Amino acid sequence: MIDEILDKLDCSYTRRVLEEMIKINSVVGREGELALYLKEELEAIGLECELHDVEPDRPNIYGRMMGESPGRRLNFNGHTDTVPIVEGWDMDPFTPIVQEGKMYGLGSCDMKGGIACTLNMLRAVSNSGHTMQGELSFSGVIDEEAYGKGAKAMLETDFAGVDAIVLAEPYPGDETKPIPLGITGKILYDIKVKGKAAHGFRPQLGINAVEDAGKILANLDKLEFMDHPDFGTGNYSTLKIEGGYEIYSVIVPASCRFEVNRLIVPGETVQSAIDDMRRLVESLELDSEVEVGIKPPRYEAYVMSKDEEIIGVFDPIYREVMGKAPCYEYAYGITDANIFAGEGGIPCLHLGPQRGGAHQKNEYVHLDWLPPVSEMFTRIAVEFLKG
Ligand SMILES: [Zn+2]
Repeated sequence: MIDEILDKLDCSYTRRVLEEMIKINSVVGREGELALYLKEELEAIGLECELHDVEPDRPNIYGRMMGESPGRRLNFNGHTDTVPIVEGWDMDPFTPIVQEGKMYGLGSCDMKGGIACTLNMLRAVSNSGHTMQGELSFSGVIDEEAYGKGAKAMLETDFAGVDAIVLAEPYPGDETKPIPLGITGKILYDIKVKGKAAHGFRPQLGINAVEDAGKILANLDKLEFMDHPDFGTGNYSTLKIEGGYEIYSVIVPASCRFEVNRLIVPGETVQSAIDDMRRLVESLELDSEVEVGIKPPRYEAYVMSKDEEIIGVFDPIYREVMGKAPCYEYAYGITDANIFAGEGGIPCLHLGPQRGGAHQKNEYVHLDWLPPVSEMFTRIAVEFLKG
């Protein structure tokens, strides 16, 4: 039976839809046109579709295929947005071109390649006439590259109840990008330092907010990071600082503000991270007043057991199709799985074609990867929903 479905996979179809999707500009903030494209394509395959506006002209797209009887529910997910165009592209980011087995274009690997493989799988299952149990569905969500608003909106729908989600992100499961069994979370500290203005020739009459901010920054290595058995510790990185005059003037600056990214591991919370920063600031006994806050985005960390069913289904399929064992890791990063698994408690599998320059100029996807990923998706769907 599985062979009959695999026979329906069609690499030329994957490639065609991938090209068509690259041609649609879906830079974060303008996902509407791609959502409409996907709706049409999914309906042609035979899924029942719904568009839900998360923000005006920024819909999530959902499609589902019902089995002959109730059963488990498996969702294949993709984010429809891409990162903005970075400088230095050697070609038009919206005109796919193929050179030496690589298809170039914005979003080719992150993650229109994975979505194309998902469409190929759904089309094969539908065309085979195969009857499964439960529900096989697709979700295309907006805003992954920014605040994850699409994934958060999905958790407000009936899809919050699916049994597992496969994210078709560029995680080929080899040494270049192992399969995450968990991902760090993150918060963004927003720290406001308030001093006191004075003439710059008499600094002793004021409180220099910029210098006090500098003292905090110089002591960030005294933050207390929890040591997680799988992840190790989180980390921090100062991203922005602003303070002082706009037009040159010799005034002791009365305010300074800076932002620090902090990766957190399971067991650390937003509150524990805020408390940690407050403790550090108090220990410095500064004259300035310091307000420790956070601003979006923030993501929960998550960790899954290797015994999780979706991993148990995936692992032997990967070995069979790829001829080797998959690599796993506890990843430093952020994906929509931080929302689906970290907030929604839904087991998540990341799997997709090998990445080439995601978030960089001249992004590409290795075309070689599209057939095995389509095949693994198909085998995973059939196995998970066999009833
Ligand atoms: Zn992505």
